[in-house]
Amino acid sequence: MSAVVTAQALEKTYQAGDVAVPALRGVDFAINAGAFVAFVGPSGSGKSTLLNMIGGLDKPSAGTLTVLDTDIARLDRRAAAEFRGANLGFIFQDFNLIPVLTAYENIEYPLLMVQDWSADKRRARVTELLAAVGMGDQAGKRPDQLSGGQKQRVAVARALATNARLVLADEPTANLDHDTAYRILELMKKMRDDFGTTFIFSTHDPKIMGEAEVVFSLEDGRLVNSGGKHA
Ligand code: ADP
Ligand code: MG
Repeated sequence: MSAVVTAQALEKTYQAGDVAVPALRGVDFAINAGAFVAFVGPSGSGKSTLLNMIGGLDKPSAGTLTVLDTDIARLDRRAAAEFRGANLGFIFQDFNLIPVLTAYENIEYPLLMVQDWSADKRRARVTELLAAVGMGDQAGKRPDQLSGGQKQRVAVARALATNARLVLADEPTANLDHDTAYRILELMKKMRDDFGTTFIFSTHDPKIMGEAEVVFSLEDGRLVNSGGKHA
């Protein structure tokens, strides 16, 4: 079994002035390639802290964190950015699409940052992804012409554009109604099936976590239980 992410005795303490704020208090887990994983817990339980560290956006205070065979905490800023560009995709709660670009251009954007994509190859990839997320007929629309669910479909396609091996989605459904949230998770799962990408998402909504195949429950910076569906 190849683990994509391994955490051992992982701790994170923020310093807010003179006050130490423990956000993760010793967390252990392993996530396998191709998994569809949720970190679930109430606001303040440490979900964003954990996803930010897996994404190399923040560093652990103690413990080890290995992402795609890389000790992510050891990377300096530039190396972490390169690692993200080569391996990771991100989906955000508020979509984070570029407002002046069309759906097509938003998906193409990460490909323009990678030098070896020819125009033909970019066109083929964007067209493939637009179709895969069911947005082929909306390619020319800008974000303000799309619904929340449509915007998140574009964001899912963008996260996968450069063939990310791991997609991190921090509360990707927090701004969507329940039916739309459910459909976005189904779409993410379909992308996992079609492209083999590992997905890790977070949610504070217990109704949504049933969509995950592996659930890790966080409470006050600790994992309180974990397991498969309905565990
Ligand atoms: P969640 O995403 O589950 O809501 P967070 O990871 O955002 O939880 O926060 C976990 C804990 O860490 C909370 O107590 C929060 O207030 C604290 N925290 C998060 N980020 C910072 C920061 N930059 N500085 C100080 N405390 C922080
Ligand atoms: Mg959060």
